[in-house]
Amino acid sequence: MSKAFSVLVTGGAGYIGSHSVLALLDAGWDVVVLDNLVTGFSWAIDDRASFVEGSVEDMALTARIIADHNIGAILHFAGSVVVPESVTDPLKYYRNNTAASRALIESAVVGGVRHFIFSSTAATYGEPEAIPVQESAPTVPINPYGRSKLMTEQMLQDISAAHPMNHAALRYFNVAGADPEGRSGQSTDGATHLIKVAVEAATGKRDHVAIFGTDFDTADGTGVRDYIHVSDLAAAHVAALDKLVEDPARSYILNCGYGRGFSVSEVLDAVDRITNAPIERRIEGRRAGDPAALVADNSAILDTLRWTPQRDDIDLIVADAMAWERKLAEKRT
Ligand code: UDP
Repeated sequence: MSKAFSVLVTGGAGYIGSHSVLALLDAGWDVVVLDNLVTGFSWAIDDRASFVEGSVEDMALTARIIADHNIGAILHFAGSVVVPESVTDPLKYYRNNTAASRALIESAVVGGVRHFIFSSTAATYGEPEAIPVQESAPTVPINPYGRSKLMTEQMLQDISAAHPMNHAALRYFNVAGADPEGRSGQSTDGATHLIKVAVEAATGKRDHVAIFGTDFDTADGTGVRDYIHVSDLAAAHVAALDKLVEDPARSYILNCGYGRGFSVSEVLDAVDRITNAPIERRIEGRRAGDPAALVADNSAILDTLRWTPQRDDIDLIVADAMAWERKLAEKRT
């Protein structure tokens, strides 16, 4: 059955965006991708989607896309995502994340777009007082990245109250893995995220993995995170869109995680299990701004959306990340 409107996906050439484009297309949505290809790749966009190269800040462009393609919903992934960079170059984050979102939301409101899904982050919580963290926990981000995203959440709350547009702010925990069918994966150079770094080490792109701190107040002293498979996260976006359409009067803030934490050592053990060849671990000092543990209370998303995690297994996440990394390694040679 064809849908009543098309969906605009900003950042659809990026890591989480490209997987969400696949999930939307597989669910029967017509998709238009807007991406400036600064960190994304045009090959990551499925052929079934239309592609416009350009910036979210370009309001003339977004207004035209919304009108020309009968856009009824926007999934907004485009933005900057490197926490340490946000500390040294905050203006970039307030521009690419906060100001660009404001411009896009204005085009959406003016163009009559009814539904908006925003890529938010667990970084909006800062250092949570209680683990697992609920959506009602205080939002006290500890870096410009988290603040730039929280400001957009706040804009959306005000805008949904004033205009006929509901929204879902999805607060991602640690996203990892790759499309199980091998259609996309994390491909941007200069990775800093643990699982990506570890699979790069496993394929010989780097010679070791640093463990940033072994003196945290956790079971084994290393940092604990809630790793969610990117395909499950993509499916959560499709389920959130269905929910926004079903109940246009309501908006949502939802944690996206499995509600279970793994330590750095446990993640590296999983990588060793999958590859059967231990990678070198080097213990280093703590990285600035790293909380000891960040684990989602995911009861809200489980209760609200028709969403059941399919790949809630650290070995599966690592295996999919590894398969994709091997593909990238073949491309390099
Ligand atoms: N980490 C690590 N070595 C690395 C990268 C990350 O020990 O090369 C740790 C980091 O200190 C944190 C966890 O792995 O405890 C997850 O970090 P990541 O950068 O993947 O995501 P974040 O939680 O910072 O968004």
